[in-house]
Amino acid sequence: MPRAELERAQALAEELFEATDVAPGVWRCPACGEACEAAFEACWSCGAERGAEVRIVEPASPPSRA
Ligand SMILES: [Zn+2]
Repeated sequence: MPRAELERAQALAEELFEATDVAPGVWRCPACGEACEAAFEACWSCGAERGAEVRIVEPASPPSRA
């Protein structure tokens, strides 16, 4: 595997790890790394605004069968 692809794969893996590192309904501040409630649009710790690129981890919803 070309080195560039390897690094890209590693970056993706780290991204996925970070995305699942926080609790559901929580987003990770890109500035300080603090976990913030989804209700907040800015980090409670450092005040950095939540960027559009920041993904909120959706709560896992169990399959609903009526
Ligand atoms: Zn922050």
